[in-house]
Amino acid sequence: MPLDDKPHATPADADRERAATHAGACFCGSVRFEVAGAPEAMGYCHCDSCRRWSAGPVNAFTLWKPDALRVTQGADHIGTYRKTPRSERKWCRVCGGHLFTHHPHWNLTDVYAAVIPDFPFHAGVHVNYHETRLPMHDGLPKFHDVPAEMGGSGTTIPE
Ligand SMILES: [Zn+2]
Ligand SMILES: [Zn+2]
Repeated sequence: MPLDDKPHATPADADRERAATHAGACFCGSVRFEVAGAPEAMGYCHCDSCRRWSAGPVNAFTLWKPDALRVTQGADHIGTYRKTPRSERKWCRVCGGHLFTHHPHWNLTDVYAAVIPDFPFHAGVHVNYHETRLPMHDGLPKFHDVPAEMGGSGTTIPE
C-alpha cells in the first residue's frame, strides 16, 4: 500500500508539489532550511522514542529523500544525537528546538511537520500504534509497528 494519502491529487497537483519548496526553522530561527517537492510518506508516530524526544504525546512526521532537504542558514548550530544507529537526531544548539531525524537504514529524513508550518501536512498512516498514549480515531491505517515495505511487521491494529 502507498504510505502517503493523496487520493484526490491530480497531475497538476503533482507538478505543483514537485516545484514547491517549503521553509522550515528551529524554535529560535537560528537554523533555517527548506524541503523541496513531495515527501515519501507522512503520518503520526506513537512510539516511546518520539514521545520522549518531542516531549509530546505523538509526533507528526514527513519522510523525505535526503536531497530534498537543504539547510539555508545556521548549519553550524545543528547538533546531532544518536541513541541508536538508526536515528541521527538533529536539533538547534542555540534554542534546543528539534529539526529533523535522519534514518540511515531507510535513507530517509524525517522532517517534523511542526517545524515546516506552511507545508500541507496530510497524514496517511499511524505507526508504532501499539505504543500509543493518544488514540486518534481518524479512520487511517494503524500499524502495530511500521509497514512491511519499511521493514516492519505490516500488521495493523483496530482503532
Ligand atoms: Zn534555534
Ligand atoms: Zn516514533
